[in-house]
Amino acid sequence: MTEAAYETLPELESSETRIGASTVVMKFGGTSVADPEKIRRVAARLVDTKRAGTRVVAVVSAMGYHTDELVDLAHQVSPHPKPRELDMLISVGERISCALVAMAISDLGTDAISLTGSQAGIVTDTVHGKAKIVEVKAHRIHRELDGERIVLVAGFQGVSTAYDVTTLGRGGSDTTAVALAAALGADACEIYTDVDGVFTAAPRVVPDAQKLHAVSYEEMLEMAASGAKVLQLRSVEFARNHGVKVHVRSTFTDEPGTWIREEDERMLEKALISGVTHTVDEVVYEVDGVRPAELFEALAAAEVNVDTIIQMDSRIVFSAPLDDRPQADDALTGLGASYAQEDGLGKVSVVGAGMKSHPGVAARTFATLRELGVTPKFVATSPIKIAFYVPHDDVEKTVQALHEAFDLGSADAERQHA
Ligand code: ASP
Ligand code: MG
Repeated sequence: MTEAAYETLPELESSETRIGASTVVMKFGGTSVADPEKIRRVAARLVDTKRAGTRVVAVVSAMGYHTDELVDLAHQVSPHPKPRELDMLISVGERISCALVAMAISDLGTDAISLTGSQAGIVTDTVHGKAKIVEVKAHRIHRELDGERIVLVAGFQGVSTAYDVTTLGRGGSDTTAVALAAALGADACEIYTDVDGVFTAAPRVVPDAQKLHAVSYEEMLEMAASGAKVLQLRSVEFARNHGVKVHVRSTFTDEPGTWIREEDERMLEKALISGVTHTVDEVVYEVDGVRPAELFEALAAAEVNVDTIIQMDSRIVFSAPLDDRPQADDALTGLGASYAQEDGLGKVSVVGAGMKSHPGVAARTFATLRELGVTPKFVATSPIKIAFYVPHDDVEKTVQALHEAFDLGSADAERQHA
């Protein structure tokens, strides 16, 4: 069974209601701020929004591939950089981009101020590299907004309860943005990115994949947990827990993208299946002779994000992200467990809220696999998902066949957003 693990609710300062002034949080990914010209374009969009009468908080990612370069640099210097120092290093990417955007805004005649995660009041636990936000102290941001400024917040980082700089895991600027939207009582969290929204499948694999107008939090959680890369999983959990409406949209156009929000009747009626996702970034482990309580305790202590779990007598099969492999190996070795690992499997997931009330999704899924001659190694389900593991080489054709079988490529597969 796969269960998306929901984070406990961090304490958020209740936002002071300001009559007549709505607030929006706008987040820009690395490609949106990749060079000086693009930074000026982001600044102009922020100024336009502010001039329309909205209080604007902007969260920016590091420029282009800057975070990757910093991680790489660390490893050129040291084979095992200390997590605390790595966080000190990689948090600077966001600091650079938000200072640059603030400068560009000033040149357009609007006041702006950049803040680090710490200055913005983002308090986290002490887990370097994937810290969780425990509190947002938004008074500084409120003060700056009251002073008619656009506030730029460095994404992906905070300050720990032990006063160290922490980062929130790769893709963590999404979570910064959603957390701020929740803390500030913003009308929406706009995520500007290099794709047009959330699609019925990865357009690179399925050329006729359609942009979805709206998906429910639950669907987006399942999609983000099973390969849709457009949002960090944790940001979706946060949005769901706090009811933040998220709008994922293109940074290059003014076109509407995909809304992620509470499920409603229309979503359930329109389409049975919302999308077919896939990932090849998971490792499947098979462990024998260790009690599940001990095994999962050790994995949790090592900060391994376990996904699918299957137990058969004394054998336990589980999957975890490729990135967590060193920690998983350490934990398993520490237990003296005999185990095997398989990194040649990909996971394909069929996701849709409509599956709760419509029978036949499993039948159509497995009939499609049979026609393809693909035999899944393991299957895991939730009320709105069927996921299965197949060899890497079969992943793309399986995604294509299921997309076709559920008729997701036709324009009316797309749900209209009210
Ligand atoms: N710059 C960080 C990363 O590349 C955080 C983010 O972009 O959201 O993971
Ligand atoms: Mg991202």
